[in-house]
Amino acid sequence: MNFWCERAWLPDGLAERVLIRVENGAVASVSTVDTIPLGVRRLYGVVVPGFANAHSHAFHRALRGRTHDGGGTFWTWREGMYALASKLTPQSYYRLARAVYGEMALAGVSAVGEFHYVHDRSNEFGYALREAASDVSIRLTLLDTCYLAGGIDQPVNEVQQRFSDGTAQAWANRVSELKSDDVMKVGAAIHSVRAVPRAELSVVAQAFPDAPLHVHLSEQPAENEACLAAYGLTPTALLHEAGALSPRTTAVHATHLTPEDITLLGESGTGACFCPTTEADLADGIGPARELADAGSPLSLGSDQHAVIDPLLETRALEHNERLRTGQRGRFSPAELLAAATRHSALGWQGGRIEPGAPCDLVAISCSTPRTAGSLPQQVFLSATASDVDTVVVGGRVVASGGVHETLGDVGRLLADAVEELWA
Ligand SMILES: [Zn+2]
Repeated sequence: MNFWCERAWLPDGLAERVLIRVENGAVASVSTVDTIPLGVRRLYGVVVPGFANAHSHAFHRALRGRTHDGGGTFWTWREGMYALASKLTPQSYYRLARAVYGEMALAGVSAVGEFHYVHDRSNEFGYALREAASDVSIRLTLLDTCYLAGGIDQPVNEVQQRFSDGTAQAWANRVSELKSDDVMKVGAAIHSVRAVPRAELSVVAQAFPDAPLHVHLSEQPAENEACLAAYGLTPTALLHEAGALSPRTTAVHATHLTPEDITLLGESGTGACFCPTTEADLADGIGPARELADAGSPLSLGSDQHAVIDPLLETRALEHNERLRTGQRGRFSPAELLAAATRHSALGWQGGRIEPGAPCDLVAISCSTPRTAGSLPQQVFLSATASDVDTVVVGGRVVASGGVHETLGDVGRLLADAVEELWA
């Protein structure tokens, strides 16, 4: 199928009346045309590249709207999350992840990075996630996560037991059995400097030198304090010592950093994934996004614990957090914001640009809804939400239109059933 776009966001900006020809799921050519050829699918509004959701824990979706009584902190929220993790089976996780990835597809996500640590020393859960992504027709990077300790110098507790492979080498041996294909790319993750001891960090960093490597970094001040007390280094400096910072690495959150940390991340080309709606929901704080970008860290975005699944809101919150933090507007240009929302390279996939050779991943945002009407087309993704996503194309195929997934049907019903099953 070929596509005609009323307006499309091309590498050099917004263009009108764009014809995109597709071959084997990839963009074959992009041109502007005066008349609409017969037999093409018409996409109205503004068409942008498919979004990359660079940080996901699919099972956290079952906590949405259930954790707001009684206040607390990140650490008390984590107790509820552990209670949920203890209930997961490969079958229930498949059903939940399929519904969650369905919600992502409706919001325009064409690739997701799953930071995956509920694995029971088995690849059954990983393949369940692959099945879920395949059913939804989005790409998955399985960031299989090394998680060995309950904190610095602390053993894993009863719930965390199922996250641990025992040693980093045992983790690497298991992960090396996973096979990448067109749906799933296998990547690596260090859960955090809390969960992987100093001596094991370099084992994880070196295990898969060509794959993406992700790590939770300095989400909470307590992590920094514990790391400094134990090792005399910040978490960033510890990762640097282990050889874990490089252009294939993405530091997730990067909230509480020193100026030296920012320099280490930027100079090594390490990416930074911000998860603004989660960081707000969990009372994490606001990280130095502009400083990291200026230092050389490519930015990406993730919905993390899925209090919200909306790449457009996430994009807007990246800019809004900067405004709240600095008292200045326009900290990122629209092009920079869109680049962060479509950073497929953080997940090891091609994408993020509408150009020949790229996967044909398109998101048509309607410009005529109550939220978007009147916005300038080049700024519409700063006024739109996931509700304004009209059509989603992944690999040249329409996977969702009008808020309905082509093969899953009613995603809301699937989500309700999967969440209910877990809490029953
Ligand atoms: Zn996370």
